[in-house]
Amino acid sequence: MSQSWCVVVRLLLLLLPWSLTAALAAQKNEPVEIRYIIPERFERATKTDDKGLEQWAEYKPEKCTVCKGTGKTRCVTCERFPDDAKHCIECKRNKDRETGCRSCGGLGHWPDPLEKVTCPQCMGAAITECGTCSGGGQIKITGGGDRWTNCPACRGDGGWKCATCNGTRLVEPLGLKPSLKDANSQLLAKALAAVDKTLTALGGFTPAARDSRKEVKELARILGEAGPISPPMKRIGKALEDVMGKVYGGNQFQGHEEAEANTMNGFKVGSEYYLKHQKRMLELAQKRAATNEKVLAESKPK
Ligand SMILES: [Zn+2]
Ligand SMILES: [Zn+2]
Ligand SMILES: [Zn+2]
Ligand SMILES: [Zn+2]
Repeated sequence: MSQSWCVVVRLLLLLLPWSLTAALAAQKNEPVEIRYIIPERFERATKTDDKGLEQWAEYKPEKCTVCKGTGKTRCVTCERFPDDAKHCIECKRNKDRETGCRSCGGLGHWPDPLEKVTCPQCMGAAITECGTCSGGGQIKITGGGDRWTNCPACRGDGGWKCATCNGTRLVEPLGLKPSLKDANSQLLAKALAAVDKTLTALGGFTPAARDSRKEVKELARILGEAGPISPPMKRIGKALEDVMGKVYGGNQFQGHEEAEANTMNGFKVGSEYYLKHQKRMLELAQKRAATNEKVLAESKPK
């Protein structure tokens, strides 16, 4: 019998807005605290032009308070590994154990919420951690002379490059035509209804890994429903099936149900974050569009 050598830190935990962190670990240095802006709190200023229409104001990037503008933080993935650990999917155990800041996508400032969103698959980590080995790539064979061996799920890599953002940490907003910025209130209302529908479906989905394959199919179907209006949602459904196909490689290990449920849950929670972010931007855009439509209607000659 074997067991994974690290505590599985639940991705869910990593994703809770304004919460968390690796306080469990880090005795020597200050723990890194990854925080994400609460979706409902995103703002985007407008200004009134000479025709009385609301236009989006120029975006003024604000320095990221998590990385203090550096675009880098200490790696939270391997903070809980033993000191002599050799592998980490996220930082590769580089000298300073530094990696791109998840909160701002490594930019050092928060991107314009009309243009970029934290990736729903990796929440800015650029990778999806393997739940079987917790990102270290190695597992201990107990009873086998305590030997370490490559994790069968990730084959020693500790996880997988995120396919939804292709390792760039950020993704694009909904793919409306005209774009979310310029769409009329009717199109925005339609998109809002679609986003709400997917959010409701996700809210009713709780992965338990009792029948993982069935659950993965169901989750992929829910995510895919938002595919027609969102390219990232289209990609994440496919990425979920790819990642889970590999996670099954760890299914002879103790606790594999938990690893499977946690992985699915990461996809679910990240997608909820993305969709709530987009919902917020749709609401702001709709308010602007409705104001402008009223101004234009009133200015028409009777
Ligand atoms: Zn940052
Ligand atoms: Zn690391
Ligand atoms: Zn990603
Ligand atoms: Zn692994």
